[in-house]
Amino acid sequence: MHGVYHNQQFLAAAEEVGLTWPAGAKRLRGKGFHAPVLTADTRARYAEDLRALKEAIPLVLPHLELPQTPNRGRVDRLTLVCKCDPPRKLRVSRTVAAQGPITCGVCGNDFTEG
Ligand SMILES: [Zn+2]
Repeated sequence: MHGVYHNQQFLAAAEEVGLTWPAGAKRLRGKGFHAPVLTADTRARYAEDLRALKEAIPLVLPHLELPQTPNRGRVDRLTLVCKCDPPRKLRVSRTVAAQGPITCGVCGNDFTEG
């Protein structure tokens, strides 16, 4: 996680759930054991679940809203405009915007960041 040092205690907790620190991997300065990986046993044990998640995550992730945060509950959204006069405006999450162009059916142009 951002700005968090992953100490031995973090690694011990990670190992309890089937992760390991790769042999020979170096701890990152300021981050520690920041990226443990699945062991071969864990990968085999959860192979079916991992396959299902691999299929489901790309379908679900673009539609997830960010959790409410202390910034007065506002979700980080982009305002996109087309070339109509006056321009039509859309507010979409960055994830949705990153999926590809959104085209205006009136002027035929893609919505872009105003
Ligand atoms: Zn338009």
